[in-house]
Amino acid sequence: MQVYKFGGASIATPERMQALPPIIQDATQPVVLVVSALGKTTNALEAIVSAACKDKKQEAHELSHILENQHLEYAKALLNDSFFEEAKKALNVFFTELQWAIDDAAADKYDYSYDQIVCMGELLSTRIFAFYLQQQGMPFEWIDARDIIRTDDTYRDARVDWAYSEKRANDVIAPLLAAGTNIMTQGFIGATADNASVTLGREGSDYTAAMLAAMLHAEGVTIWKDVEGLQNADPKLFPNTVKIEAITYHEVIEMAYYGAQVIHPKTIKPLQNNNIPLYVKCFLDKDLKGTVIQNEVNSIFYPPLIVLKKDQILLQVTTKDFSFITEDNLSDLYSIFHALKIKVNLIQNAAISFVACIDNKEDKVKELVNLLGKDYKVFRNENVELLTIRHYTPEILFDLTKSRYILLEQKTRQTVQVIMK
Ligand code: ASP
Ligand code: MG
Repeated sequence: MQVYKFGGASIATPERMQALPPIIQDATQPVVLVVSALGKTTNALEAIVSAACKDKKQEAHELSHILENQHLEYAKALLNDSFFEEAKKALNVFFTELQWAIDDAAADKYDYSYDQIVCMGELLSTRIFAFYLQQQGMPFEWIDARDIIRTDDTYRDARVDWAYSEKRANDVIAPLLAAGTNIMTQGFIGATADNASVTLGREGSDYTAAMLAAMLHAEGVTIWKDVEGLQNADPKLFPNTVKIEAITYHEVIEMAYYGAQVIHPKTIKPLQNNNIPLYVKCFLDKDLKGTVIQNEVNSIFYPPLIVLKKDQILLQVTTKDFSFITEDNLSDLYSIFHALKIKVNLIQNAAISFVACIDNKEDKVKELVNLLGKDYKVFRNENVELLTIRHYTPEILFDLTKSRYILLEQKTRQTVQVIMK
């Protein structure tokens, strides 16, 4: 059994969806399809949430009607009359749920409201996709992921109850697969024990694919993207990137940790733990070789792997009375970062100071500086960039930092990190 994950770009238009059946037919059957919302639907739903929570209900309803029409037009472009009528009925159930969620949304339960609204994107797209495949003679059992993926109530970043979800997957999905039935379900969404919908964090569909693969012992997971495979750097930021043919789970986790937006960071662990290979392939040309992500194999040769995080802030925290930074201070400082859920991207400490590089999220930074300011002097250096290179060479380091002002550099044998302006 295989898991195929199709992201929003792969189904952005009806034409793109029409190109997918040959890809699906190539999979060893049965296959579990994990699918995202159509194109940029999640962003559109986020706009609806923000209107609905600002008490601009009218605007939220208008935006949702636009979205409904887009989905209906999309379905109409793919389906013949009788399939379209059936699909319309199925979609209407979610349109109604969406209207309720908008009416119910409120600023004081923003994250909860977000999840009740945003989860609709995947429910709608998978309905359309399943009807389309059925019409093409490829029946798929449509499963509501909220019946399988059980989580806590950390809305927008829900934590999965693994044992419960695994049991559900094995009770509900495994018998269908055993009977040779293909499955279609949503990425990115789940539900709490009280049946409230949740989301798993933006781009969370990869994670769902990995979880289901692990729970159902898939032979492999393939993520279908609009690029040829993983590149050694973001092609939007760097010229002359190279495609990576094979890479270990470990390297990908490192890259995700340093901020590469290649694959949802939670995706790797379930796959590594179960030794399930992850393939990244291109839906525009299924015959391209792509990238395989797997366990350590005999010495893979890596090009320099480059990650650039922009819009960073470098905070320098010093004691007010010139006393040393001790373990007590450090534990104090860490607990402040922890309490505010701020991830520190790079740390360095010295005699009377502590330096931390963090993402520039305005509200959080303000809160942080206020808290730190009680006991320490805080200096900030805004608008800096954090460059990380794994498997660096002196040449590439020189090349990427020349003509830049370097504020800090940390090197280990394999990794160099530079904070620069
Ligand atoms: N549709 C969601 C998002 O755009 C989840 C995903 O695409 O993985 O974030
Ligand atoms: Mg998406």
